[in-house]
Amino acid sequence: MKKHNFSAGPCILPDSVMKKAAEAVIELDGSGLSLIEISHRSAAFVQIMENARTLALELLGLDGKGYQALFLQGGASSQFLNVAYNLLETKAGYINTGTWSLKAIKEAKLFGEIVEVASSQEDNFNYIPKGYSIPTDLDYLHLTSNNTIFGTQIKEFPTTDVPLVCDMSSDIFSRRLDFSMFDIIYAGAQKNMGPAGTTLVVVKEDLLGKVSRKIPSMLDYKVHIGKDSMFNTPPVFAVYVSMLTMQWLKDLGGIAAIEEVNEKKANLIYSEIELNPVFSGFAAKEDRSNMNATFNITDDTLKETFDEMCKEAGINGINGHRSVGGYRASMYNALPLESVGVLVDIMSELERKG
Ligand SMILES: *Cc1c(COP(=O)(O)O)cnc(C)c1O
Repeated sequence: MKKHNFSAGPCILPDSVMKKAAEAVIELDGSGLSLIEISHRSAAFVQIMENARTLALELLGLDGKGYQALFLQGGASSQFLNVAYNLLETKAGYINTGTWSLKAIKEAKLFGEIVEVASSQEDNFNYIPKGYSIPTDLDYLHLTSNNTIFGTQIKEFPTTDVPLVCDMSSDIFSRRLDFSMFDIIYAGAQKNMGPAGTTLVVVKEDLLGKVSRKIPSMLDYKVHIGKDSMFNTPPVFAVYVSMLTMQWLKDLGGIAAIEEVNEKKANLIYSEIELNPVFSGFAAKEDRSNMNATFNITDDTLKETFDEMCKEAGINGINGHRSVGGYRASMYNALPLESVGVLVDIMSELERKG
């Protein structure tokens, strides 16, 4: 039996994508060759990369607006330093909303002065800071749109003339936004787009080429743009599966369509958490993530029963991150509404038992 997969990442992908990906590993589109044994310079793969890059910009509504989409390696974690390497001349601002922001800050500090413009660290990152003022002399302001570990999500982005850089690893393609407010968006594939192994980087081209330092080729966005994201051998499998997932999303009706489903899933679990005295939510209500719902059990004596019930129902991956504890239900694009229904039924059954 297929499990209800609430894993935080790597995580659930659409069934149809998995099937097609599995087939392509054996034989790509009747070519007599496997996806992973052909040259990345073959016409078939060049087309796959082009489709993936086009789909990414299309889904975000950024095609024809001066942006380029790249599929790079090294995870979102490499972008923590890459962003600074390419953009940081003197000073950059960071909004510190959790573990991933902190890691981004640590890397950027190697390249210039970092201003922590706002932070929710004093409350273990259970909310999103608001109403802060942004210095005007920053090379860029860095945000984490969705805090995978703490279950908070930025609902309103700051308006500023400072270029915005956003780590969207765990909510890319999940909700409608005016993506043109960002100058760089990056996202590790394995949360909402594909398997681990590639990172989508969407860059506004006119932002580049302004720092005085020399940039090694592999870290230089301009080099990757100049080579159509094929400067070196790309992670062909990860790019292919990401392409399939983006195609799946486009066929569904794009971000607007999936946003509706994501809202239903989030409403379902959060209303249960609010009404059910056995559970309490971790994140501030107005900042709760539609992707990762974090919650605790209020009566520890019920924990064992709850875990056992979840296991029996085939629920996978809801243990919270060690820095928050409790539970975390990740509800990425490919997670069906029914899976959330199964979890919520167990939560209310536990209340009746408890
Ligand atoms: C998972 C995650 C990362 C780290 O991604 P890697 O690809 O493992 O480097 C960074 N930022 C956010 C918001 C994440 O959820």
